[in-house]
Amino acid sequence: MTASTNTALSGANPLHVPVEHQQPHWPDPDELADVVRTLGSLPALVSPSDCDELRRRLAAVARGEAFLLQGGDCAELFAGPLIEPTRDKLRCLADMAAVLASGSGLPSLTVGRLAGQYAKPRSMGTETRGDRVLPVYRGDAVNDLRFDAEARTPNPQRLLAAYRAADRVLSDIRRLRTRSHALFTDLGGDFFTSHEALLLPYETALTRSDPASGRKYGLSGHLLWIGERTRQLNGPHMAFVASVHNPVAVKIGPTATRTDIAELIELIDPHREPGRLTFITRLGAHAVHDMLPPLVDEVVTRGSPATWVCDPVHGNTFTAADGIKTRQFEAIWAEVRGFIEVHRALGTHPGGLHLELTSRNVTECMDNHTPVHERDLHLRYETACDPRLNGGQALELARLAAPLLRP
Ligand code: PEP
Ligand code: MN
Repeated sequence: MTASTNTALSGANPLHVPVEHQQPHWPDPDELADVVRTLGSLPALVSPSDCDELRRRLAAVARGEAFLLQGGDCAELFAGPLIEPTRDKLRCLADMAAVLASGSGLPSLTVGRLAGQYAKPRSMGTETRGDRVLPVYRGDAVNDLRFDAEARTPNPQRLLAAYRAADRVLSDIRRLRTRSHALFTDLGGDFFTSHEALLLPYETALTRSDPASGRKYGLSGHLLWIGERTRQLNGPHMAFVASVHNPVAVKIGPTATRTDIAELIELIDPHREPGRLTFITRLGAHAVHDMLPPLVDEVVTRGSPATWVCDPVHGNTFTAADGIKTRQFEAIWAEVRGFIEVHRALGTHPGGLHLELTSRNVTECMDNHTPVHERDLHLRYETACDPRLNGGQALELARLAAPLLRP
């Protein structure tokens, strides 16, 4: 299937995407339609020319001339005491990017998981506490983390709040760009935004035609990715990203086959343009050595210039004894090492890292060096969704990976 024949979404009403594609059950379709109309009348959040610039920078990564660092929260929050200032998020990424650049000898390209990471795919539709069952938290763009019935009811006004929250973060970034020269030098000279393109009413309402080129862009963020749960080839999420000119990433989990990879390439990047398509593999430390080589081979065989990025966190999540979701630093590092080893053996470029992290001194992931033990997890467990590396763990991972990335 080519991009031009895949029109499952364009022309279709985005409000009628079925619930099984991780879309929330919005209680009032008329209210959602109003919100979508309002979003459609608001200014785009990012510009087509900045999306094109990121494509050019990702093309350099695909050619092996740079290294991508993509990171941020699992789920961004609109507000509250746990929200991390944008400046701190960028400083954390900048410190890692500087370590990676000096250790690897390659320039870093930094992309935040921010200014739009407000929606989460979930494995279960509900959450149970004691004898109470409520809709699961799906991100601040949908409902509230607080465990009460009203807070957990999907509210379409939150899509407007997500737009305003993203707009605030983007204006923080613009302010930092003019005032903090050293920060932007460490970030690699520029900084881009990304999030999972999950809520199709939101994404399609912010899709605009560029008057200069006539092309469509999803202007909610620069890089849009499709998650492991919504990457079905004939699904509405893939149709959406196939229809826009942004750089696009697809998460690849352990169930992915060579055929999946081949079909994703034909759908998203039929013309083999470097910078268009990124595969973010999240296979797990134990599976990366066995599972990654055939997927890389398929890409090479197809003549695809896709960029390879390692997400070493999502394949290494487990539930600790007291029910807390966590990850072990050593497993995360093992998947990064495995990813680099596989690419070295095959002669392809280990293009980057995709991480859930925070500059805050949280105790969400365990490690043997700080150390953070299982009994410490409850001390500062602040995430709204998945466990993040804290600032120290994130920098340690960059220090370990950097020398292995020297070409
Ligand atoms: C995520 O990035 O938070 C996520 C849900 O990842 P995946 O789609 O890879 O499971
Ligand atoms: Mn996550």
